[in-house]
Amino acid sequence: MNSTKIEWADMTWNPVTGCRHACEYCYARRIAERFGGGGTELLLEAARLAEGSIELEEPVMRTQKSGKTAKASFPYGFIPTFHRYRLDEPLKMNKPQTIFVVSMGDLFGDWVPTSWIKAVFDACLAAPWHTYMFLTKNPQRYVILDKMALLPRGDNFWYGTTVTSADDNTDLDMMDLQDSGLHIFWSVEPMMGPISEVSLWVQHPDLIIVGAETGNRKGKVTPERKWVDELQLNCVSFRIPVLWKDNIRKLYPDLPASAPRPGR
Ligand code: SF4
Repeated sequence: MNSTKIEWADMTWNPVTGCRHACEYCYARRIAERFGGGGTELLLEAARLAEGSIELEEPVMRTQKSGKTAKASFPYGFIPTFHRYRLDEPLKMNKPQTIFVVSMGDLFGDWVPTSWIKAVFDACLAAPWHTYMFLTKNPQRYVILDKMALLPRGDNFWYGTTVTSADDNTDLDMMDLQDSGLHIFWSVEPMMGPISEVSLWVQHPDLIIVGAETGNRKGKVTPERKWVDELQLNCVSFRIPVLWKDNIRKLYPDLPASAPRPGR
């Protein structure tokens, strides 16, 4: 696990890395491809050809430029990889933390074996003093897992979906979880357009986290003031707590105070 500057978490934990979505604004892919490597070429090629995934029981060691050997964080770049040896990390940390689970991929992508997800849930359940924040672009997988009675319940489990604009329909997939009693949140990050008032009203997430796109990508979208104001007004009307990230507060310093993050 690593400590993080992400405002809504203390730590990130990546027992699974990699993703097959193709979000143009993805920072995780850029990092994994830039700092990745160290894995076996043969395995890498096989996974690429078969659109497969890779399971690692032990870390891959990699020789750095300095000559020192260290654990490779992304031995197979952004190819979906299960780092099974990382599963016990929450258990080893006694102090309660708010943990962003799988910040460098999508744990709930269609390509992820259910056995991987179950192993991650089991590791969370073994260390119940932490708060676990999950985030996906494929919330339909939550619904499927819930029907299989695999989705852990409890105040310390939060299930999020990324909703970047009203055109992003991932929020609709969350509707099936609406009366499930689970903690649901939306990550409106990066905000790329107005957010649907109807979806907000119907789904009523327990928390919305809002942030702006970072980096210098060509075509980078800066959230318009009217999108932000509209979302703010709707959240006040529907009594939905909002956590404004610093990167959007930098654009609009007069935004109201943020809701506390889960685990606080
Ligand atoms: S879902 Fe997340 S990890 Fe996957 S490509 Fe999109 S931004 Fe990157």
